[in-house]
Amino acid sequence: MKRGILYWIPVVLISLGVIYLAFFSTPVENKKRTTTRLMMGTLVAITTWDVPDQIERDGVVAAFQEMDRIEKMMSRHLPNSPLSQINRADLGKSIPLPQELAEIIQLAIEIEKKTDGAFNQGLGKLVTLWGFSGDSPPNAPPFEEKILAWRKQFHASDAIQLSEQNSNQAAQITRINTAVALDLGGIAKGYAIDRSIAVLKAHGIHHALVNAGGDLRVIGRKGDQPWRVGIQHPRDPNRVIATSDWPAEDNNDLSMVTSGDYERFFLHQERRYHHILDPKSGYPAESGLLSVSVQAQNATLADALSTAFFVLGEERTQSILSRFKGIEILLVRQDLSHWMSPGFKGLWQGEKIP
Ligand code: AMP
Ligand code: MG
Repeated sequence: MKRGILYWIPVVLISLGVIYLAFFSTPVENKKRTTTRLMMGTLVAITTWDVPDQIERDGVVAAFQEMDRIEKMMSRHLPNSPLSQINRADLGKSIPLPQELAEIIQLAIEIEKKTDGAFNQGLGKLVTLWGFSGDSPPNAPPFEEKILAWRKQFHASDAIQLSEQNSNQAAQITRINTAVALDLGGIAKGYAIDRSIAVLKAHGIHHALVNAGGDLRVIGRKGDQPWRVGIQHPRDPNRVIATSDWPAEDNNDLSMVTSGDYERFFLHQERRYHHILDPKSGYPAESGLLSVSVQAQNATLADALSTAFFVLGEERTQSILSRFKGIEILLVRQDLSHWMSPGFKGLWQGEKIP
């Protein structure tokens, strides 16, 4: 998608703030190297620790190329992306798609089921209706009749049909509902982070942090120190509300992804309308939360679940948490109080989380 300079100026400023926060406690040392690029609508930073020059350069370039490849495959805004081709396909006509994209779509279907429909990759038309697809946010919500018309036509269960995948046959997909357009905005950034980590590892880089506008994954450690990651205060981009020190182990491999009502929003008649939509109502989720951070072994899952849990709210999230292994969460409520799952380790505004 072509973005104008007016779009990038705030993105860069906010992202620099977030990235600064993620490293705020890290002294500047020459073993640490950070390279940044603007991609996926945000500033992405790759930081490595104590890696020989040439390996570092090659690995980081390849990791950015990999993220670029994923964006080109999974963006709804690039007209020639495989995802856009699916969204343009005639109803009822099966079209082939890359295996990798089929796997993410399949994973999103499973996450939709496990989150009682809170995560839904078929909301592209609704996102466009709300105006969250463009360069700048809209200044008023869409007419209620338009949302009602979308809701009438949209049935989460008949969003798309993905053919059974096996090694002999290319995956096929069929669009069966005009109200559905695939939008992987809730999961693809996490997947791009995971792929970049896989490429860094393949280049022999084992101590690194990939940070895409505050969504991140780390491998290894920072010398004998753990990586410390910060969670942005939902109402003050210059503050961290919580930090988490991850174990200083060689095989450390953890992600943290946050979904919040402050990432993309507009104010209309003193109400905040944000980009995380409740598939049941067609409106921005009003679940009583300002943000949800999910810690998981990979960023793809953390990304999808943070979006879903934001829609579900505190009680429903707590009631389904046992369906997921190895994840921890931190929720920030409207009054800026918080709840975290028992294994979440870290500091809350300077106080140790028990
Ligand atoms: P995130 O920032 O990861 O929470 O994802 C939000 C983005 O995912 C939005 O900008 C939409 O593109 C898309 N999205 C919005 N609501 C949902 C939802 N309920 N399920 C899945 N994706 C969504
Ligand atoms: Mg997400």
